[in-house]
Amino acid sequence: MIEPRKTPPPVPLLGAGDIRRLAAELNLRPTKTLGQNFVIDGNTIRRIVASAQLGAFETVLEVGPGLGSLTLGLLDAAERVVAVEIDPVLAAKLPATVASWRPERTEALDVVLADAMRVTHLPRQPTALVANLPYNVAVPVVLNLLERFPTLRSGLVMVQDEVADRLAAVPGSKIYGVPSVKAAWYSSMEKAGTVGMNVFWPAPKIASGLVRFTRREPPATTASRTEVFAVIDAAFAQRRKTLRAALAGWAGSPVLAEQALRRAGIDPTARGEVLGITAYARIAEAKAAATTAG
Ligand code: SAM
Repeated sequence: MIEPRKTPPPVPLLGAGDIRRLAAELNLRPTKTLGQNFVIDGNTIRRIVASAQLGAFETVLEVGPGLGSLTLGLLDAAERVVAVEIDPVLAAKLPATVASWRPERTEALDVVLADAMRVTHLPRQPTALVANLPYNVAVPVVLNLLERFPTLRSGLVMVQDEVADRLAAVPGSKIYGVPSVKAAWYSSMEKAGTVGMNVFWPAPKIASGLVRFTRREPPATTASRTEVFAVIDAAFAQRRKTLRAALAGWAGSPVLAEQALRRAGIDPTARGEVLGITAYARIAEAKAAATTAG
């Protein structure tokens, strides 16, 4: 008789009771300022980890490990996890949590007590970013990490659902804005699903969304990233105006703005929300070229 194939038991993950117990042990009062909403549902963790499409060789950067819900899932899928946490109480507790839930994986975890907005050095070069991000700083954290750690090739982040839509928006859509264009400098972004509120403790008032990204080369341009981002900021600061008007301050006058736009091959009466990252790079380059020539 053929023995039925046994599926391995699922890796233990933190549930609602575990999260409450850990929080009580630490006397933790989750704060809104730090976006502390902890995942209490193992299936959501499995879904995030599966959506991240990690290879077994991966060193994952996790921002805000909190009580360790996602960290335990990531330790099962990747070679290593570097967890950056701003809250000293949570950062100090994490190694003990991993030691009791996944003792065989304790060596695979590095915990860094730091602000992900400012961190410049990590103990290892991360290859993927996977995080349930603190919502009020999600976009700057993603942009900052993509800029600082070029070894990050891909990632999956959970953010506010509306922010997920913005990050993945394409030119011409209503929600296309500064986060969409700046994120496109570094990577392609795609929405990977929506997550309800009741998988968190405490439950947030809004739904969350998953965004997956894959790094790509920035557009070929002689303009610097800072110069390109300055045009984007100017164009969206007055997004209802024509580019000629919106970029007047940035260029020095409406006439200079029109000249830069024409040199870049862009209609001066168009609005910023129809342009992709390559067009913004061309505008920045056209102004820099005019400054050099003139
Ligand atoms: N990963 C955990 C989970 O899924 O249950 C917690 C996610 S919770 C939404 C966000 C976490 O980010 C909290 O642990 C919070 O303390 C941490 N955090 C907030 N701001 C941060 C920052 N600037 N840098 C690093 N961690 C931060």
